[in-house]
Amino acid sequence: MAMNCSPVSPKPQRVNGARSRRRRPGVASFHVDVETLPRDGGAYVLLIAIVSPVGISLPKRPDVQLAPGQYLYCGSAYGPGGIRARVARHFRKDKLVRWHVDRLTVAGRTLGAWVFPGGDECALVEILNEFPAAMPGFGASDCRRCASHLLVGPRDLAQAVWPRFLQSPKGMEG
Ligand SMILES: [Zn+2]
Repeated sequence: MAMNCSPVSPKPQRVNGARSRRRRPGVASFHVDVETLPRDGGAYVLLIAIVSPVGISLPKRPDVQLAPGQYLYCGSAYGPGGIRARVARHFRKDKLVRWHVDRLTVAGRTLGAWVFPGGDECALVEILNEFPAAMPGFGASDCRRCASHLLVGPRDLAQAVWPRFLQSPKGMEG
């Protein structure tokens, strides 16, 4: 952000107040239990495993069969209950299918979630850009920035993802 560049105040802490809270997610943490999830608003990355193909239809897109494997879904939750309420819903399998990602979390299993209070899901997609889009438009129908909010990764996806969150603090600012 250009507003950070001031020749008379070189110390980073001098400009912190000028930054948008929403673009500055905290340190990544990975959660497998609802009880540990924060109630703050923010963004999250679900780690989802499916063991059999899942068919997805999106408006104006060719139907896709998602192959068995591990996927990352980037989302955000700024409503009541924040990250905890939303991710808890993703963890549950007994629910009405409302969003496309529900097809995956019902057919497969949500292994856990990285959460970023105050974060932005599109910034998370950006720092995970080494992982290909699983299906164009998925989770991103109202997003002009990302090809997809669903990414596909290698078998040991969790291990591959951690370094991205640890090494890319700048990317998390969006
Ligand atoms: Zn996006």
